[in-house]
Amino acid sequence: MSYFIQSIRELIAVDGAWVPGGDDQSLYLRPFMFAKEAFLGVRPAHKVAYYLIASPSGAYFKGGVNPVSIWLSEDFARAGKGGTGAAKTGGNYAASLLPQAEAYENECDQVVFLDQDGNVEELGGMNIVFVYKDGTLVTPQSDSILEGITRESLLQLARDRGHKIEGRNVSLQEWREGVASGDIVEVFACGTAAVVTPIGVLKGKDFFDEQPAGTLALSLREELTDIQYGRREDRHNWLVRLDA
Ligand SMILES: *Cc1c(COP(=O)(O)O)cnc(C)c1O
Repeated sequence: MSYFIQSIRELIAVDGAWVPGGDDQSLYLRPFMFAKEAFLGVRPAHKVAYYLIASPSGAYFKGGVNPVSIWLSEDFARAGKGGTGAAKTGGNYAASLLPQAEAYENECDQVVFLDQDGNVEELGGMNIVFVYKDGTLVTPQSDSILEGITRESLLQLARDRGHKIEGRNVSLQEWREGVASGDIVEVFACGTAAVVTPIGVLKGKDFFDEQPAGTLALSLREELTDIQYGRREDRHNWLVRLDA
């Protein structure tokens, strides 16, 4: 058994009573590591401390899942080509916080980033998926995107249902034109905390594009949460029993 799974088992052995029992509630687990040695200087660490902390967490959306509005960050990047954007490092969110504040100023819930060539990358802390009218799901692929487990799981469920999946560049132009022409029928964001969030609006400095409302995002969300809560068969063996 991996040290990681072992650490979760040990935490649950002590703190299992903190696992909440209500609908859509969970015990949020946050593993992290940092260099821990008596040394000042710049080099990879020889010794690290690993911690696992937990907190009971309520339903992310109170009163149902609502579509979010997204602000297009044109002046800031979250990650750069060849950088650390693909890793959940301590600084992962730092670069997204100022653009996120800009999103709030523009009355948007979240921010979406482009790469230097104008391709869509992801939100500050969620991956993005486009649903095309022929049923294909397209998600941006690049070494500066954090490849979330939620996206991977949802795409697997969609594949199981017979949807075609593509990981490739999606330019901002393709997104906007696809919505305008009706080729793109749904856009959603995904990540551990919210699982799936439909995107209702994309707003930029000089445009405001309403996004089409579909049903796939919420149906995939329901299937994944059903598996997580043990209400549906775990056919890919994603679950690990901790109290056994
Ligand atoms: C955490 C995170 C995600 C989502 O990853 P999950 O493993 O699905 O929780 C996506 N993008 C960024 C930048 C993230 O930090």
